[in-house]
Amino acid sequence: MKKLIIANWKMNPGTLIKAKKLFNRVDKIKTKNKIVICPPFVYISKFKRAKPSQAYQNSKLQLGAQDCFWTEEGPYTGEISPSMLKDLRVAYVIIGHSERRALSETEEIIEKKLRAALKTGLTPILCVGEKKGENAKRVINNQLKKDLKGISKKDLKKVIIAYEPVWAIGTGNFCSANKANKVREFIKEKLDNKILYGGSVNSKIAKDYLKIGFDGLLIGNASLDAEEFRKIAKNA
Ligand code: PEP
Repeated sequence: MKKLIIANWKMNPGTLIKAKKLFNRVDKIKTKNKIVICPPFVYISKFKRAKPSQAYQNSKLQLGAQDCFWTEEGPYTGEISPSMLKDLRVAYVIIGHSERRALSETEEIIEKKLRAALKTGLTPILCVGEKKGENAKRVINNQLKKDLKGISKKDLKKVIIAYEPVWAIGTGNFCSANKANKVREFIKEKLDNKILYGGSVNSKIAKDYLKIGFDGLLIGNASLDAEEFRKIAKNA
């Protein structure tokens, strides 16, 4: 089965030239899996104009965003709406990433963003996970309950869940596939949705998560290295 390999570039690379170079290299990756690149907002439209044929006709590579707001238009300085993303042919949006939660994003805000994304036709990737020392199941149970509260049964299926232990993100300290799988099974008991793993994945360990049952991966740091990302996407 096709796996979903998502690149979260976060606030990188630092210039458009570097971003285009990375994008073009990733666009050339040959893989049976589906790749989604989530660049910073400001680069999204540049990719659209720079490489429409390669970026959009190759169904293996699609664009995602790292966040979105919860209404379509209005007096919300600095925000980007789901329909603006849709207009640039963005297909996915990450919502509730721990780095946004750390900037005071509440479960209520996340729930509103999820509803807005779904209404616009974007596929949300909802990030959940515990901090160091917290009980993973308890935290995730609470996050899922609150984040998905107002989502209709029909829409619920469209939400992709990314299990991302906060302590594993950007630390090199990945959660073992066996341990992560216990959380995957816990989520699966509640929701029959696609579940990804994210947290310090590199090309050496990527396959372990997919073999054990995850439907894909959310890759941060390693997605900024085109060769490393190629190995992950190809071997997954
Ligand atoms: C992330 O930010 O979602 C992530 C998984 O980052 P990293 O791969 O760098 O841990």
